[in-house]
Amino acid sequence: CGIVGYIGHREAYPIIIKGLERLEYRGYDSAGVAIFDGEETQLCKTKGKVSELKRKVEETINAKGTLGIGHTRWATHGVPNDVNSHPHFSNSGDLVIIHNGIIENYASIKKELIKRGYTFYSDTDTEVLVNLIEEIQKIEGVKLGKAVQVALNEVVGAYAIAVFDKKKPDELVVAKLGSPLAIGVGESEYFVASDASPFIEYTSNAIYLEDEEMAVIRLGRDVKVRKIKGDALV
Ligand code: GLU
Repeated sequence: CGIVGYIGHREAYPIIIKGLERLEYRGYDSAGVAIFDGEETQLCKTKGKVSELKRKVEETINAKGTLGIGHTRWATHGVPNDVNSHPHFSNSGDLVIIHNGIIENYASIKKELIKRGYTFYSDTDTEVLVNLIEEIQKIEGVKLGKAVQVALNEVVGAYAIAVFDKKKPDELVVAKLGSPLAIGVGESEYFVASDASPFIEYTSNAIYLEDEEMAVIRLGRDVKVRKIKGDALV
């Protein structure tokens, strides 16, 4: 399983798909990408190999844009199929997430979100997390980074995540506990991946997140790494 993300000035999709191929050694049963095209987030995902994903992307979506995320899944909650593959949207369609790991207390959070009117389309723990982030954004009126931080303080489990909000496409939020996550810092562009292999040819400047760390990656700003527990997010 692996994650890849890109935000910058180049086409994101070629970088992400090549990155997913480099992470294939980690093992997986499904793969997917989400690319922000300037207006909408184009989603394509499938059970099977990255090569199958490539074919499906070419046939079904216009994967043009400079912000995107990609995932290879090793199923833990829900069988390997197209719907359970990542990325996952929140109910509004604004947020999109990729996640490696397990949210152990997803069932109780899911129950509460259903009471509050949320619908779930997959059997994954991950779809619970992205909707929890959305609910916190709504209720507390906070920015994405803060909402991710609050959500992760409610979550028990392991994760490497990358999430963005199509309403704020200059920002990519990442966090880590248990699963690896590296950030590649280039010239007004940033890469995110499970290891540095997807971005090694673009930059040698890598930040490896420690457990319980997160970062709000904002175009044109320095990457600030913060603690998920404790640190205030500005
Ligand atoms: N628990 C998540 C799922 O089953 C993520 C699995 C992974 O690490 O790829 O979809």
